[in-house]
Amino acid sequence: MIAEKCPCGLGEPYDDCCGQYHRGAEPPSAELLMRARYAAYVVGDRAFLLRTWHEKTRPRALTLEANQAWQGLAILDRQGGGIFDTEGVVEFRARYTADGRPGTMHDRSRFVKVDGAWRYVDEA
Ligand SMILES: [Zn+2]
Repeated sequence: MIAEKCPCGLGEPYDDCCGQYHRGAEPPSAELLMRARYAAYVVGDRAFLLRTWHEKTRPRALTLEANQAWQGLAILDRQGGGIFDTEGVVEFRARYTADGRPGTMHDRSRFVKVDGAWRYVDEA
C-alpha cells in the first residue's frame, strides 16, 4: 500500500484515490479511469489495466517496461466521459524517464461505457 499522494496527480492519498479503483470500484468518469490507469502503470497493477481495457482491443498479455519510470500526468482536455455519457475522449501528457532519459507521451485516449463501467478503447 502506498500511504502517500496518489501518483495520478489529484493530490489525494492513494488509498482514497485510484487505490479504490485498483481494489475493484469502478471509476465514475472517463477522466478518473484515465488517471487510475496511469496510476496502475506507476504501481505496476497489470490486472487493473487489463480489466479496464475494452474486450475488443485488450491485449492478451501486458508487459510493463521495467526501465520506464512514470513521472507525472497532466490532463489537457476531455470530451464527454461524464456520468451521463457513454463515450469520452481524454487528452493527456505523461512524463517518464526511460533508462534515465526523460520522455513525454501525449495522446488522446478513447473510452466507452460498457454495462455501466468505463473501459479504455484505444488512442483517438
Ligand atoms: Zn489517483
